[in-house]
Amino acid sequence: MAPGERIGHFSGHVIGHVIGHFIGHFIGGEWMTSESGRSYRKRSPWSGEVLAEVAAGDGEDARRAIVAAHEAFEGWAGALPWRRQQIFLRAADILERRRDEVLGALAVETGCGRVFGEVQVGFALKLLRQAAQLGYRPAGELLPSDVEGTRAAAVRRPVGVVGAIAPWNASLTLAGRAVVGPLALGNTVVLKPSEESPYTGGALWAEILQEAGLPAGTFNVVTHAPGEAGAVGDAMLASPLVKRINFTGSTPTGRRLAEKAGTYLKRVVLQLSGQNPLIVAADADVGYAVDAAAYGAFVHQGQVCMCARRIYVERPLAEEFTTRFAAKVATLPTGDPSDPATVVGPVINEWALALLERRVNEAVELGARVLAGGVPAPPCYPATVLADVPDEAEITQGETFGPVVIVEAVDSAEEAVARANASDLGLAASIITGDTRRGLRLASTLEVGIIHVNDQPVNDEPQMPFGGVRDSGWGRFGLGFAAEEFCELRWVTVRDQDREFPF
Ligand code: ADP
Repeated sequence: MAPGERIGHFSGHVIGHVIGHFIGHFIGGEWMTSESGRSYRKRSPWSGEVLAEVAAGDGEDARRAIVAAHEAFEGWAGALPWRRQQIFLRAADILERRRDEVLGALAVETGCGRVFGEVQVGFALKLLRQAAQLGYRPAGELLPSDVEGTRAAAVRRPVGVVGAIAPWNASLTLAGRAVVGPLALGNTVVLKPSEESPYTGGALWAEILQEAGLPAGTFNVVTHAPGEAGAVGDAMLASPLVKRINFTGSTPTGRRLAEKAGTYLKRVVLQLSGQNPLIVAADADVGYAVDAAAYGAFVHQGQVCMCARRIYVERPLAEEFTTRFAAKVATLPTGDPSDPATVVGPVINEWALALLERRVNEAVELGARVLAGGVPAPPCYPATVLADVPDEAEITQGETFGPVVIVEAVDSAEEAVARANASDLGLAASIITGDTRRGLRLASTLEVGIIHVNDQPVNDEPQMPFGGVRDSGWGRFGLGFAAEEFCELRWVTVRDQDREFPF
């Protein structure tokens, strides 16, 4: 490919197992190769076959996209609400029309099975349809002033260019929430998808929004080769044209980003790792708790930031719960994500598989017992349940992204809360109990951003305030809250009479 070449219309329909031949950057309404002319091959996590050749962007490509977004800002920010609304409603209809094909692409590109694929498409449709109303929200409020004759208002305005950095795991949903809210509020966006999901987490959104009529430059996508995210991220951080960045990913990467953002005094929304507890009280319905825990730990093979990583069970129920849970987990079908019967598909790549293997083996060497799974079946890692895991095992610290969960008996749910609060992370948690009032009391003591009583932790809806506390991040996604993250409040006054000045 020639450097910086326009490559005409791109259509990523899944043909056989191939997602189009070349995925370019989407900049200023055009599909383009990289300024450097470089590209990389995106492979299927299940079959290993090449799905597409993808533009390998760097800071130069990011800067071109930022300029395009900046130039589009005034027009888009001034677009009337009905026009913006029409675009998001049309985008939802396009996604709905393409639903089956998108489910296929999620499976081949990210190993996402039918259940979680439907969750993602369902979320994205609601996101677009709810976002369509955002343009009609009140744009501020009138404030009383103690200065005679002054009328004051707080007026919300879009900030300008928003940089969005999204991961591969829930590629459609997480890229969607990173861009749709900011766009609907009148900002323009440059999206950097993960190298593992350049299509479903990037180019697909460009195709849909372009077909829906989003003006050129309003939304841009810059892809990059594995290991080269930093150049694109750094260009976003350094550009004075980029006013906000949102990031969804791991705590170590988010921390580095926040450190750099400090240098530029740039506001970032950070959605980071979780070490999410699921607490089962002794009075829980054990069948319900087992089903909830299996879903919460193993949906999308445990590659969701909200997945239950540790299950604490009050001692009187611990043996029965653990036996029934391990038995259920051992039967979860593992294999091809395109097969609707599959529950546990492949993990995203060989490094993820190797990390799971290493951490489980280390825990076992330190005395852990494997109650289900534990033997890799490349490219899958089976749903795995560990017990008696000592606190020094790596798997108890930070986040291990994959289908492994730790079960632990506790004397009381209060002890479980204390153990969960001892972690640095605070994303999501859940409590299952027959006594909802006790559940609410326990919930109020957990240091997390998201808590579900009598459910498992993997939930999301576009209107909810999604986000963590402590090392799980800052800020909230959620369309009702996006305005606080992706708008500026301006204080405006107007006087209806001249004022007297003291000198
Ligand atoms: P994971 O790959 O486990 O989801 P990461 O935090 O590594 O977690 O990745 C999340 C997103 O952050 C991806 O889009 C990735 O490409 C991006 N990323 C990784 N390193 C950097 C970096 N130095 N600057 C900006 N973005 C980065």
